[in-house]
Amino acid sequence: MRIDILTLFPESVETFLSESILGRARKKGAVEIVCRQIRDYTLNKQKQTDDYPYGGGYGMVMYADALYHAHRSVLEECGKDHVHTVYLSPQGQLFDEDKAKELAGYDQIMLVCGHYEGVDERFLEECADEEISLGNFVLTGGEIAAAAVADAVARLVPGVLRTEECFTDESLYDGRLEHPQYTRPEEWHGKRVPEVLLSGDHEKIRLWRKRQGLLRTFDKRPDLFREFPLSAEEKKILREEGRDPEEAG
Ligand code: SAM
Repeated sequence: MRIDILTLFPESVETFLSESILGRARKKGAVEIVCRQIRDYTLNKQKQTDDYPYGGGYGMVMYADALYHAHRSVLEECGKDHVHTVYLSPQGQLFDEDKAKELAGYDQIMLVCGHYEGVDERFLEECADEEISLGNFVLTGGEIAAAAVADAVARLVPGVLRTEECFTDESLYDGRLEHPQYTRPEEWHGKRVPEVLLSGDHEKIRLWRKRQGLLRTFDKRPDLFREFPLSAEEKKILREEGRDPEEAG
């Protein structure tokens, strides 16, 4: 999969996406991430990328033209007429794991980062397929949001993580939170690792983890049960653990 990120600050986005797991995945070619400097595509001498908003008001608005040429350059380089293009915006749909899975299904996507007061609407009308928000807050630029989306999407691409289980077992993948995790030492500040994890009994460990994941979901994110309803078996487990499944969601 290839992810192109159009930004005025490619170095900041690169910082997030070139270390650790993603850095290694990029080196071995499991995923290609290209950060493109929008300023390189301005046609004016001063390499200006933004201007005052028509109608007055605070801040600056990014030119449609520079964004358009940066966008076109990706299409031309890849010999494509269209690449699914996402504008990171506080006005977009809230990003979640389902959207990450959907985006990971494309062979290529483009992420566009706005800055200042945002981008000229005409660029969005012409080139953006959708708008995605990282959350109900306003960032100064789309870079952190693009890095977050690229990271969440890339880790779902086959070959990026060691095995598929690394993400299918993780929180939210199937509408449940992950079980608690422990590592050495066996005792820390008087708190022992749950005995079952030291038992070596893989089936017992699997069942314990499943149960813990379910309890955590009930306690921390019961809203997830609305989209991913409780099975009969899960309801039984909750009752055994003193929770009322009717209170879920
Ligand atoms: N004037 C815009 C508005 O009120 O909708 C906000 C512009 S914001 C200060 C600058 C840029 O940051 C946006 O163009 C967008 O790319 C990015 N941004 C801000 N908040 C975001 C969020 N919650 N999710 C994704 N991107 C965001």
